[in-house]
Amino acid sequence: MLQQTQVSTVLDYYRRFTQHYNDVQSLANAPIDDVLALWTGLGYYARARNLHKTAVILVDKYNGQLPDDLDKLIELPGIGRSTAGAIMTLAYHQIFPILDGNVKRVLARYYAIEGWPGKKEIENKLWQCAEELLPTSRIANYIQAQMDLGATVCTRSKPSCETCPLQSNCRAFQHNLPQNYPTSKPKKIIPTRQTNWLIAQLKTGEILLEQRPSHGIWGSLWSFPETDSSKNIDSLCQDKLFVNMANITTQPYIRHVFSHFKLDIHPHLIQCSINNNRIAENKSLTWYKIGDALLLGLPAPVKLFLEQLQKMRN
Ligand code: SF4
Repeated sequence: MLQQTQVSTVLDYYRRFTQHYNDVQSLANAPIDDVLALWTGLGYYARARNLHKTAVILVDKYNGQLPDDLDKLIELPGIGRSTAGAIMTLAYHQIFPILDGNVKRVLARYYAIEGWPGKKEIENKLWQCAEELLPTSRIANYIQAQMDLGATVCTRSKPSCETCPLQSNCRAFQHNLPQNYPTSKPKKIIPTRQTNWLIAQLKTGEILLEQRPSHGIWGSLWSFPETDSSKNIDSLCQDKLFVNMANITTQPYIRHVFSHFKLDIHPHLIQCSINNNRIAENKSLTWYKIGDALLLGLPAPVKLFLEQLQKMRN
């Protein structure tokens, strides 16, 4: 769980992002590299890419407005059925259910629905309950109240059943078992992967960075060139990075945890010189001064490492 200080840092980053891109047009016009750079620190970079893609579609197809049609909303990158439902109700006052994490929890408890809501069958049951409960008027108030109830009263670890307006009909409360719902996700052993960062640095301080492919982890962000094995780094420097290695020091490993695996990163700091101009053959590789690199879209551990390198040089 995020600590209070981490929450306020994330909120600060988010505020900075929304202040910079304060309308759809400015976000659509921005190069994706700038969007990712401003998103640094917020994680889940697919969200930034989806926001950008959606802004471009809204400007191109919908005159910069969100369409008032559930199916068209769901077609937009990053918008699922629940978000589309929330837009339809809160912005357009049309009657649709939502099913975000808070609402799932309230419904699972209210009806004492067994099973992990990530399973399609359980999720379908919850959607059905959400639909059956829909009022015929004041839909925006109802949806807002549903979300607020989950966020403030029927909370994950300490539901305030004594003050809850649903208490008299809530099955989980009647059985004194609110914490048993919703059923937790079945535990899976998260695998650990290994990678090696090749942090090539010139005498003058510039660092070699590589822009990652747009798909996969840290898509389109700038990172250090990587290799699976710590063997043959010298020849990799020659053949892939086009540098002559003068000295190499391996730094303590860094563990980065993703939702579905852990990544153990072994950083190798390589003092080097450029051996020829072949770097132009690989357009994703670029030398950056550390200060300039810190303005790019960077994965959090890369940013941290660069900040430490910058401190060491100052
Ligand atoms: S009575 Fe308790 S468990 Fe039931 S909905 Fe209210 S807060 Fe949640």
